[in-house]
Amino acid sequence: MEMERKVTWETYDAAQLKELEALNQEYRDFLDNGKTERECIDTIVNTIEAEGYRELESLIESGAKLQKGDKVYSVCMNKSIAMFQIGEKPLTEGMNILGAHIDSPRIDVKQNPLYEDSSLAYLDTHYYGGVKKYQWVAIPLALHGVVVKKDGSIVELNIGDNEDDPVFFVSDLLIHLAAEQMKKTAAQVIEGEALDLIVGSRPIRIDSGEEKEEKKEETEEDKKKAKEAVKAGILDILKETYGIEEEDFLSAELEIVPAGKAREAGFDRSMILAYGQDDRVCAFTSMRAMLDVKETERTMCCILVDKEEIGSVGATGMHSRFFENAVAELMNLNGEYSELNLRRCLAHSCMLSSDVSAGYDPSYASCFEKKNAAFLGKGMVFNKFTGSRGKSGSNDANAEYMAHLRKVMDEKGILWQTAELGKVDVGGGGTIAYILAEYGMNVIDSGVAVLNMHAPWEATSKADVYETYRGYKAFVEGASM
Ligand code: MN
Ligand code: MN
Repeated sequence: MEMERKVTWETYDAAQLKELEALNQEYRDFLDNGKTERECIDTIVNTIEAEGYRELESLIESGAKLQKGDKVYSVCMNKSIAMFQIGEKPLTEGMNILGAHIDSPRIDVKQNPLYEDSSLAYLDTHYYGGVKKYQWVAIPLALHGVVVKKDGSIVELNIGDNEDDPVFFVSDLLIHLAAEQMKKTAAQVIEGEALDLIVGSRPIRIDSGEEKEEKKEETEEDKKKAKEAVKAGILDILKETYGIEEEDFLSAELEIVPAGKAREAGFDRSMILAYGQDDRVCAFTSMRAMLDVKETERTMCCILVDKEEIGSVGATGMHSRFFENAVAELMNLNGEYSELNLRRCLAHSCMLSSDVSAGYDPSYASCFEKKNAAFLGKGMVFNKFTGSRGKSGSNDANAEYMAHLRKVMDEKGILWQTAELGKVDVGGGGTIAYILAEYGMNVIDSGVAVLNMHAPWEATSKADVYETYRGYKAFVEGASM
């Protein structure tokens, strides 16, 4: 057998290249429209409703019966989603599940964030997920998220990604004064509390025109404004533009992300450089594969979840019962529900737990073991295991399942490669794979190779995006093991 895998680009004909470019254009739009979990969910729901998906909760209300081919989705708290397309076989025989996550590393705004120092206004922050903090300074940043007011109304913010918008930034020390800073380790060169966002510098004017003549005395409010006039100016703008008071930050979820659109990269335009490709590249290709497969024996499912980057915790993370509950409701509508049937369904399911893989980087060759590394442009990646320090924390997929997938992929002519996350004992990481494996189902890690993973701008190969999409289609179309 040939252990050296083919390069995808060399195998495509004109029609495939056209399909590849169209898919990647749609992928870039997906990234631009979804820089937060909530924005991703909005984009996904709009896309899948247009293709016939109906909300589970409304079907429950109407007491609908489900049939082969029916398309159903359920959203959890605007941050996670499960999609199903009913197959021919009963659900107790299991589903083919695609899973990925839609949260990405970033900087979050604290609950009491706004302050002024030396005539600069700041938002105080706490970073989210694994980031090299020094990568997030001195670049244009955008602010996305929601502010929920006491009356329950939601103000959506999306500032910095339209050409006319202002952007924000975190400052860095000029090189001329950085002699001491440059001696620090990369982990300490930018401290977590130094990642505060600069949001303004112009003091509010309280002494203007007629107003002053009318009010003869300076009020307490005026005195306060004069003391922190830049902060007061920002609060004025927030009030006027968005109807937000300072206290409303207490119930806000604001995410600071790199400003700018997903771009083609390289003279040959062979790559995508964009924020949030971990793991929206797998989320997008999984969703697209679901939409493009018309009929299947087994029910198809796609789960796109929140909070993977901080341990899959919370009501919207993979550890939540949200997914299990959705499957139970689905079986109930099908007339198949019982506790035992639910367990059978989950145990008999197969899953591709999709996440990005570390792309081999020649500049950092010593961190990889080349025979077992993922290369950009060599197709969909399968990781039998992840983990660190002796596979700790890993879902180590079964050889029987790997063999089944080899057959499914090879029969459809999918170009794929196997990899592990770097050299033994160099580092490691985890995904959502082990959580679904707890049901006793077959799960394997798979996905797309990425360069500069978790950096503000991550790189993928367009060919890998295309090949992974093809691989997901092959998987959901495939028969059970
Ligand atoms: Mn990931
Ligand atoms: Mn990640």
